[in-house]
Amino acid sequence: MEVKMSKLKYVYFFGSGKADGRAEMKNLLGGKGANLAEMTNIGLPVPPGFTITTEVCTYYYSNKKSYPKQLKEDVAKSMKRIESAVGVKFGDKNNPLLVSVRSGARASMPGMMDTILNLGINDAVVEGLAKKTNNPRFAYDAYRRFVQMYGDVVLGLKPVHKDEIDPFEVIIEAKKKEKGVHQDTELTTEDLKDLVAKFKVAIKEKTGHNFPEDPMEQLWGAIGAVFGSWNNDRAIAYRKMYDIPESWGTAVSVVAMVFGNMGETSGTGVAFTRDPSTGENIFYGEYLMNAQGEDVVAGVRTPIPISGLAQENPKIYNQLEKIRKTLEKHYRDMNDIEFTIQEGKLYMLQCRVGKRTAFAAIKIAVDMVDEKLITEKEALSRIEPDQLNQLLRPVFDLKEKDAATKGGRLLAKGLNAGPGAATGRVVFNAPDAEEWFKRGEHVILTRIETSPEDIRGMDASAGILTARGGMTSHAALVARQMGKVCVAGCAALEIDYPTHTMNVGGKVIKEGDWISIDGTTGQVIEGKVPTKPSEVLQVLIDKTLDPKDAPIYQQFEKIMKWADKYRTLEIHTNADQPDQAVNAVAFGAEGIGLCRTEHMFFGEGKIEPMREMILADTLEARKTALAKLLPLQRIDFEGLFEAMDGKAVTIRTLDPPLHEFLPHEEKAQRELAEQMGITFEKVHQRVEDLHEFNPMLGFRGCRLGIIYPEITEMQSRAIFEAAANVQMKGVKVHPEVMIPLVGNIKELENQAKIVRQAAGEVMKEKGVRLNYKVGTMIEIPRGALTADEVARVAEFFSFGTNDLTQTTLGVSRDDAARFLRPYTEMEIYAKDPFEVLDRDGVGQLMKIAKEKGRSTRPELTIGICGEHGGDPSSVEFCHMIGLNYVSCSPFRVPIARLAAARAALTYPAAPAKKAAKKPARKPAKKSRK
Ligand code: ADP
Ligand code: MG
Ligand code: MG
Repeated sequence: MEVKMSKLKYVYFFGSGKADGRAEMKNLLGGKGANLAEMTNIGLPVPPGFTITTEVCTYYYSNKKSYPKQLKEDVAKSMKRIESAVGVKFGDKNNPLLVSVRSGARASMPGMMDTILNLGINDAVVEGLAKKTNNPRFAYDAYRRFVQMYGDVVLGLKPVHKDEIDPFEVIIEAKKKEKGVHQDTELTTEDLKDLVAKFKVAIKEKTGHNFPEDPMEQLWGAIGAVFGSWNNDRAIAYRKMYDIPESWGTAVSVVAMVFGNMGETSGTGVAFTRDPSTGENIFYGEYLMNAQGEDVVAGVRTPIPISGLAQENPKIYNQLEKIRKTLEKHYRDMNDIEFTIQEGKLYMLQCRVGKRTAFAAIKIAVDMVDEKLITEKEALSRIEPDQLNQLLRPVFDLKEKDAATKGGRLLAKGLNAGPGAATGRVVFNAPDAEEWFKRGEHVILTRIETSPEDIRGMDASAGILTARGGMTSHAALVARQMGKVCVAGCAALEIDYPTHTMNVGGKVIKEGDWISIDGTTGQVIEGKVPTKPSEVLQVLIDKTLDPKDAPIYQQFEKIMKWADKYRTLEIHTNADQPDQAVNAVAFGAEGIGLCRTEHMFFGEGKIEPMREMILADTLEARKTALAKLLPLQRIDFEGLFEAMDGKAVTIRTLDPPLHEFLPHEEKAQRELAEQMGITFEKVHQRVEDLHEFNPMLGFRGCRLGIIYPEITEMQSRAIFEAAANVQMKGVKVHPEVMIPLVGNIKELENQAKIVRQAAGEVMKEKGVRLNYKVGTMIEIPRGALTADEVARVAEFFSFGTNDLTQTTLGVSRDDAARFLRPYTEMEIYAKDPFEVLDRDGVGQLMKIAKEKGRSTRPELTIGICGEHGGDPSSVEFCHMIGLNYVSCSPFRVPIARLAAARAALTYPAAPAKKAAKKPARKPAKKSRK
């Protein structure tokens, strides 16, 4: 029904307590339009207006930038409705209506699209406005703002080059200098009049056209510019970064103007219903009296904390407090709002679910469950798994920081806009930040204020530092969303763009100098300050902090507990060493999904016998070398089994090509020859022999164990002897031996036989029974396609999705850098397939393998151990196709737990039937001493 209606209805009106739209209609009305409608419907004071739907945007782009025929009339009618609601007339000389023209996509894109305020003024109207309000200064202030915005946005005068300044700002600065004033508010009516005239001249010079005086022409110009801005560079960059499809389009809202710049009883502000940095349940915001819209966010003047309004105007403050509660109850979430006070009367201009840091996301979710505003499941759905990374990020070492500040290195203090610690080299513009980042530098992007054009540079920076703007400035907003460290509004910085330097209290900081910024306290410190682990890591890994003293950890723990309650996938980890295993268990890992035995050969005293084995000419010599490796491997395995305490430990037999273990430089080869007591030529020759044109598809994986069965034999012995030894100490063990790179059942048969024989021998020798499994990795397409055969021997499958992606796509990951990035930019692959599982290709093979495998062996355990095991989207896919577990690196275990829970909530009916026993989970806590 809605679809049919929307075909005919291009314009949705709101005003006088009633609206055509609703909050649920974001797709059609954009976030802004839908929420303006909703606020109107729930009785909040919203100025009247209307929203042109996103369908018109789609129409616009598929019809050579033209509009549906009916739109003209619809807009005209809606303008009339606004006029009668407010009792003024658009373009009228005595009693004029002014409007704002605002963009709004489905997903909020803060500052991405351009809004035009005060539209409808011209030389005649401005006089009427002056007379009517008895406030000529206000009228001309509105006029100069309008000409400036219209010139920038619609007529294209906005600067493009990085060191360029807005031409209108140049004119304003010159004016201020001429008058010897600092603030815009100090300019007189005559000054403003003069500015308007100069602006118009600049426009005429730049564009060759006169500024349009006809209000209707202005309106349509602005509507076209908003639709046009959907495809400007920064909107495109932002869409890319946040996966917003181009096809969504933007809506346009036209709203009757209310004025925050009518004098000292007027003002404007932005606020969050809770603290978006920490999540604390306090009213959090900023305002400026005698200012209009953008002033607060753009950082032109540093605004006043909202608590100041409680003193300045308690009536309005209390009304806002009430609205804050109403909104939280209604939306059941933290909101961010924009409001304007016109001569003592409050108006709401925007609300939306507010962006927040990971810290805030977690605290708010946990608190709202406690407040019975939301359920546990909703709480989980509100935290993006990747956000958990922010909680693990280092913080400054307090002792080191104190030493630095006491030592006189504290440069300044700004606002603590994005929590965390960042150290890097100063750069003064976004393109430089990107460039330096590409060279591998850590940079702190330092700007007077940021704007949406800077978004890619911000993304490339370790931290963001601004001289102007408050906690809700563009820099602060975007930094929090990106999870970047940010110090904003640091007024002590005198930044000089042309010379790429800044002066801070007499000290000169140049481009490339190191600074450290603490986004939790707002401190800016000269030089590098060492960091230490986050609260969560101090509790779980270092065990240097009592959970009782760690509020952030406590919230993290709660979320993890809820995640475990709802997920059906098990989470295993990729770990090769006991300490990694211990960390992973602390993070909640329920088993080791991949132990890469080759990593063990690189330790001290191990690489030598390994090299000896590779250099051996005869079977005898090889066996002698292997005999030296056996005890070393056994000790490693014992450590792993003990650390895992009865949880499954999946150990992969030797996988990489042998040349990886030999030195490639002549000097090192000579040293090795000397060590081994053989000639350099022999070492050199062996390295040459092992050279491969395409090692990824060469002599590696099970191929090694098939040609040199004694390697598999030794490794199996080491595994089972270790298992027996640990079991005899009373610790449960569950070894699972995994054969890599199997594409043919005969390969697996060959290797499984060796493994089972070793197991039998060890059990006999030690007089114990071991509960073990033999399985395989599925990482080449032939293995997946013949999985029904493979499962006759394999007791478990583990998808090695790194290799499976390489072999399915025919792309060598190590050689892909040249084209894969452009590929994703051109959307040939939407995402890097080595980061996010390619569901249609690789995923299809996984499905086939799973179905075929379980057709032969219904109880077959299936997991994934590639890099994808820690990627939320890939975890979701694994849940959807009914795998038993995902295995990922230790630090991604919490992310995988949350991702698995969210997948289970999104796809409750997924066929994730447990094949194996499902032990009660007790993650993390158990391992703590
Ligand atoms: P953005 O998406 O960049 O926040 P908005 O459309 O929300 O852009 O508008 C920019 C600024 O102008 C905001 O501060 C907003 O509150 C203010 N504003 C928009 N429309 C009006 C209006 N009709 N009256 C007064 N202020 C407005
Ligand atoms: Mg806004
Ligand atoms: Mg592999």
